[in-house]
Amino acid sequence: MGLLSVAALDVRYGQFRAVRGVSLDIARGEVVALIGANGAGKTTFLRAVAGAVPVAGGTVRLDGRDVTDLPAQARVAAGLALVPEGRKLFADMTVEENLALGATVGRAGDWTMERVFATFPNLVKRRHARCGHLSGGEQQATAIGRALMSNPDVLILDEVSLGLSPLVVDQVYASLEGLMASGATIVLVEQALARAMAVASRAVCMLEGEIVLDKPMADTSREEITAAHFGLGRSKGARA
Ligand code: ATP
Repeated sequence: MGLLSVAALDVRYGQFRAVRGVSLDIARGEVVALIGANGAGKTTFLRAVAGAVPVAGGTVRLDGRDVTDLPAQARVAAGLALVPEGRKLFADMTVEENLALGATVGRAGDWTMERVFATFPNLVKRRHARCGHLSGGEQQATAIGRALMSNPDVLILDEVSLGLSPLVVDQVYASLEGLMASGATIVLVEQALARAMAVASRAVCMLEGEIVLDKPMADTSREEITAAHFGLGRSKGARA
């Protein structure tokens, strides 16, 4: 069993099944790119894994432990940290105060505030600035830093590039490179396929709430991922 093991996960919004029986096993040290069109269910899946939306069925296990019924904060304490789409920082609090929040779960590990500042040097001068006054790139770095401060076993990044200029996206990913090389386990949603292919060791593609492609990045291609993204060649009709 993987470090993160999801089995037959179902998430519903009323009658609508946004995530349909998704199973995914992620080993320690994998960097998984979750790919798919708008509305494919990526964010819903990740939020369900992190405990931010209730599940209608299935299980989430972290290092063998069933965390399916734990609230989000308890999952952070168990080692699962989500950087949500839109960052969700406390705008009136400073960078340092937001980072300190990440440490409140009390997990042991190597991440300190100084290490976050070393990883994201653009934050050093802004450490006492309120997050509401930061640029998009600085906010994203703070959001990732806050997650890292909980010393997660699994880091989930939902569209870290959203709303950032290409230059700033480059900077954010350059900062993440060391983290990825250090053997961290990461699941990331990235709309820019070239970037997803460059950073991830595995491609998982979702379409209409299901996984339609799951391969080591080295064994797939831009064409295959694009076809899965659009559902080309997929037979319809077997849906619940
Ligand atoms: P995006 O890239 O646009 O974020 P996504 O792959 O992350 O897309 P989700 O945001 O998970 O997809 O949405 C999956 C489906 O669930 C979509 O059809 C969406 O309209 C629907 N959905 C998402 N959130 C809610 C909600 N709170 N209530 C009802 N339906 C929702």
